[in-house]
Amino acid sequence: CLDAISARNSNINALIHVASTTDLRANATAAEERWKTHNQRGPLDGIPIAIKHNICTRDLATTCGSKMLEGFLSPNDATVVKLLRDRGAIIVGKTNMDEFGMGSANIHSFHGPTQNPVIPDADHESNGRVAGGSSGGSAAAVAAGMCFAALGSDTGGSVRTPAAYTGVVGFKPSYGRLSRFGLVSYASSLDTVGILARRVPDVKLVYDTLAHYDELDSTSVALKSTPVPPLEDLTGLRIGVPQEYHVEGLSEAVLESWSAAADFLASRGATVVPVSLPHTQQAIPAYYVIAPAEASSNLAKYDGVRYGHRSSAPRDQAAPLYATSRTEGFGAEVLRRIMLGTFVLQANSYTSYYQQAQKLRRLVQRDFDNVFAMTNPLHAAATGNTTSAGQQDPSRSSAGSGNTHKVDLLLTPSATSAAPRVADYMTSSSQTPVNECINDVMTVPASLAGLPALAIPFGHDAEGLPVGIQLLGQYGDDQRVLAVGSIVE
Ligand code: GLN
Repeated sequence: CLDAISARNSNINALIHVASTTDLRANATAAEERWKTHNQRGPLDGIPIAIKHNICTRDLATTCGSKMLEGFLSPNDATVVKLLRDRGAIIVGKTNMDEFGMGSANIHSFHGPTQNPVIPDADHESNGRVAGGSSGGSAAAVAAGMCFAALGSDTGGSVRTPAAYTGVVGFKPSYGRLSRFGLVSYASSLDTVGILARRVPDVKLVYDTLAHYDELDSTSVALKSTPVPPLEDLTGLRIGVPQEYHVEGLSEAVLESWSAAADFLASRGATVVPVSLPHTQQAIPAYYVIAPAEASSNLAKYDGVRYGHRSSAPRDQAAPLYATSRTEGFGAEVLRRIMLGTFVLQANSYTSYYQQAQKLRRLVQRDFDNVFAMTNPLHAAATGNTTSAGQQDPSRSSAGSGNTHKVDLLLTPSATSAAPRVADYMTSSSQTPVNECINDVMTVPASLAGLPALAIPFGHDAEGLPVGIQLLGQYGDDQRVLAVGSIVE
């Protein structure tokens, strides 16, 4: 990993901070000591893992890709980092990201864009591709062999999009399964820690290490999850293909990958059926009201007094410390989101935007509940039914929603195309802020519903760039998504 970092990181810009050799050695020695004492290796002993720059580590800065938090050193490790270290993992460094998680291409970073490692370094200038965002650094670090796995965060697709563009596996677990303690908040009702690695079983290894209830996170969910043994074939499994994901602008290669994956699943015994999620189109507008609203509230604390960059410019009444610090500390995309979020939360726009968006979010969630055979365990809990994850609800087997079949998992593309050119994103009008948001159409619905979602590489486009598919499961059905995912790859 260290060789890969020294060979490519200066071109790719995936890792912003790399642990010192002394720290790495100390980590490795500690893992070795534990081995000697307990006479057995832990699942992650000595395994190098990279951490996104919005997840706190006590020995490496946590900048969130922002000048606002330049040099910020957290007093604590995030719970997920602590769990990794306790199992012997070695934290190799902190990865590049779109500022505070806002973006889909890793071009909105104070530390500069991340290049996609699938393009040889020598061709970056002429043909550089975005690594995807916002966890672009984590995906690129995994794809370039700089670490075995990486943690990212996924609010509306930030683990899955970069995984799709760089040709690695990216998993967004069910909301609340992985602790958010020490993950710097963007939109708290959507934020999840996610995992990137080259293969599904590697993702599962890290997931099993991290999926524990954490009393330090008030949204952590203690859910009984039924383990799913490794699957031999998929006989008896029903997979839905949501027709509304067939959006305008899906690339040829993505369409081919999607239908080849459906054929492959059927060839392994699964029954593949079309399903309808009628409110899919409303997911993007709902998300881009709710996420900025929550962000404007979460980011209010960075004012140069309580937290963050403090301007040293001369002050007067027209430019108070608070305003100059925020203007200097935040980049353009973050400022845009704060403005938008503040607007939709104003008293006179609250009912027409924020409340409407929350209603749409509920409709998107309901669409999913209508197609999955398994009851949503959160809703079961609310009605006093103690269904645990993995249980089928017999009362749901007859359709009341226009969908004639209930399914176990859903199959969709992971992105609308292979990785776009960096030059297009940075300069051309084809990638306006609005277009960047529209690209999230494949990933945002699962985020609004809090569902587990796994992006897996599946094929290439004509230029050899990776494209892939996404498997979605009912809330809490993370293990089944991973088990089926390991057959698909
Ligand atoms: N592109 C989306 C956004 O900018 C998703 C980002 C994320 O998941 N953090 O909000």
